[in-house]
Amino acid sequence: MSLVFISHPNCALHDVGNEHPESPERLDSINDRLITSGLDFSLVKLQAEPATKQHLYRVHDQSYVDEIFAKTPEHGMVHLDDDTQMMSRSLDAALYAAGANIMAVDKVMSGEAKQAFCAVRPPGHHAERDKAMGFCIFNNVAVAAAHAMEVYGLERVAIIDFDVHHGNGTENIFFDDPRVLFCSSYQYPFYPHNVGPGNAHILNLPLPPGTDGDSWQEAITEQWLAKIDAFAPQLVLFSAGFDAHFEDDMAHFKLVETDYHWITNEMKKIADKHCGGRMISTLEGGYNYSALGRSVAVHIKAMMD
Ligand SMILES: [Zn+2]
Repeated sequence: MSLVFISHPNCALHDVGNEHPESPERLDSINDRLITSGLDFSLVKLQAEPATKQHLYRVHDQSYVDEIFAKTPEHGMVHLDDDTQMMSRSLDAALYAAGANIMAVDKVMSGEAKQAFCAVRPPGHHAERDKAMGFCIFNNVAVAAAHAMEVYGLERVAIIDFDVHHGNGTENIFFDDPRVLFCSSYQYPFYPHNVGPGNAHILNLPLPPGTDGDSWQEAITEQWLAKIDAFAPQLVLFSAGFDAHFEDDMAHFKLVETDYHWITNEMKKIADKHCGGRMISTLEGGYNYSALGRSVAVHIKAMMD
């Protein structure tokens, strides 16, 4: 069984200007690298369908979702927060980004695929129940987890967030839902700043600026791996941000491709043991085009191996 690679051209239509790091070219860099690496031929490519409001209401307040629909401008730009804007096609992109995650869950849970990667934007992990934040409008990985629990009755879903920023939105959405084990490693102090200690099923792992791959792997090994194994997930989700890469100027971690291979492989061992290898990854950050393309290719290959 192959890995399904889910995307949609509409995810590239959200474009809030050349100055913004979260650009449509990010998806081009991934596609280009998959082609040059030869990995492209091994993937089953699918076009996402848009998420429905009902899918979004599972993780966002109804009033928030309706407000986003109402705010979509015909022309120009609407600011949702300091660095999150919407233009005429942003809602469309956000719906396809969330919808890709619905499709990924359906494919993996039905057994049509073992793994899925959602090459989507805007990203999602900063979006809270009632708030857009940090380039994120709808929380794509949360939409996936909620779909897996509601439609397929899963009781244990692990979300591994290795973006350099804390996944505050995902924590906010599942803080009181112990069916989700949420693990987030991130630079601290750093955006989004107000990070609490988490709880028994929210494992926050703050690490200082300058963290390199060795210390990152060591911290994750000490603080996460046994807990994730003991949780015995029925599905493993990745909030796959690649802005902790050494070449990414967004932050100050020093991860490289082998670190993304390592985390993917560690989670694959757990997924193979507990849930038949079921893994779904959705794109979050990653703003250096070359590092992003290379890292995604390594991550996808490690999921498939
Ligand atoms: Zn990030």
